[in-house]
Amino acid sequence: MQEQSIPCPVCQTKIPFDVHALLRGVAFTCPSCFASIGIAQEALPTVNDAMQKLEELKKNIHSAKKSSS
Ligand SMILES: [Zn+2]
Repeated sequence: MQEQSIPCPVCQTKIPFDVHALLRGVAFTCPSCFASIGIAQEALPTVNDAMQKLEELKKNIHSAKKSSS
C-alpha cells in the first residue's frame, strides 16, 4: 500500500517505487530511459532514522485521537 511514483529526473516519466524497498536500498529503474533512482548507501541510515521518527509521530497522532474520543 506504500507504492508511490516519482518523476524520472531525466525524462520525467513517472517511476513507480515502493517506499520500503527504497529504504532498504533497492534502486528503481525508469521504464522509459532506464535511469536508475535510489537512495545512496551512505544516506540510508539518515533516511531510515527520519522515517522511524515519522512513524513514531503517526503513532502519537493516532493514540492522541483515540484517547480524545
Ligand atoms: Zn527516465
